[in-house]
Amino acid sequence: MNIALCDPKRAYEAQKTALDAAFQRVMKNGRYILGPETEAFEKEFADWTGAPHCVGVANGTDAVELALRASGVRAGDAVATVSHTAVATVAAVERLGAVPVLTDVELSSSCMSPESLERVLKRHKARAVLPVHLYGQCANMDAIMALAGRHGAKVVEDCAQAHGAAFRGKMAGTFGDAAAFSFYPTKNLGAFGDGGAVLVKNEDAARHARQLRQYGWHERYISDFAGFNSRLDELQAAFLRVRLGRLEQDNGRRRQIASRYMRHLADLPGITLPLAGPATDPVWHLFVVRIHDGLRDEAARRLQDRAIGVARHYPLPVHLQPAYRGRLAIDGKGLPNTEKLCGEILSLPMHPHLADNEVDYVCSVLGETLRELHR
Ligand SMILES: *Cc1c(COP(=O)(O)O)cnc(C)c1O
Repeated sequence: MNIALCDPKRAYEAQKTALDAAFQRVMKNGRYILGPETEAFEKEFADWTGAPHCVGVANGTDAVELALRASGVRAGDAVATVSHTAVATVAAVERLGAVPVLTDVELSSSCMSPESLERVLKRHKARAVLPVHLYGQCANMDAIMALAGRHGAKVVEDCAQAHGAAFRGKMAGTFGDAAAFSFYPTKNLGAFGDGGAVLVKNEDAARHARQLRQYGWHERYISDFAGFNSRLDELQAAFLRVRLGRLEQDNGRRRQIASRYMRHLADLPGITLPLAGPATDPVWHLFVVRIHDGLRDEAARRLQDRAIGVARHYPLPVHLQPAYRGRLAIDGKGLPNTEKLCGEILSLPMHPHLADNEVDYVCSVLGETLRELHR
């Protein structure tokens, strides 16, 4: 058996007829960028999440930057976010000229720690808080909204890994002033190329984001302010409409796979299984276990030798990466949970087209491996 960590080609095969028809429709229509498919997708995705407005953009990194800018964040403003995330989160903050200040995460959810955020907000006057709903889990939005409110900061949610995740029954991306999604092919809602979207609460912010994504144009060729080019193309929008129709089902299958992993891996030595907070309904973008006793890398090697795709999300927290090391502000108490997680996390294969017997195979190989390493 050869089991990939994720497998976007199977997503194409599962909906081949509808995706091929979408391709034909766009090619024959003759509008290739920002046309009827993009408009329809924006409406459908807004309806699906329950957000008032959706603006399609070129990718998730742009979506984070645009969501921050549409929320009033400007060059020089401090933005509190996490170090335990895709580097794109922090890169987007810096690209608009804002200054990231990094908080620690909770060991349980792998998301922003409210205690750490409170320390950071007391020391830095942050214009915005940018929590990341990592792995399809949810950050503690009760505590984060309350803290941001008390300190006069906007909240922008990075939902690139959390399409459909909910906190106390409310969809990720509908808590803050704005939210950013990525449709990179391996995400829960993936295009077949790059894509992203911004969700915003009010009409003004939506208009601002729409202008920003196209040179600041107010009407064709007339810029009100300096913007840039970050448009969603019609092919990707048409594909996303097809895939959105299956997202509920795909997330449901991810939940089944997660509970199968939970059942089969529960009694193994030296492992901690992912824990969703009691308020969180996760969508399992990734299934990330922790392997203790310094054995993670050896366990990863043995799984890879048996053709099982595993990964570390992420091998280095942002504040320790060569591009950022030593120059980013962090919680004065350091980021101990972030650094601890980094040495223990292991992502197991997770995508909606994994078969039960493939999950069982991963579990039996991981079981054998951990029992051997602990003998
Ligand atoms: C994927 C991802 C992004 C960036 O999305 P792109 O579409 O690759 O630009 C941002 N934040 C997080 C948490 C991600 O996982």
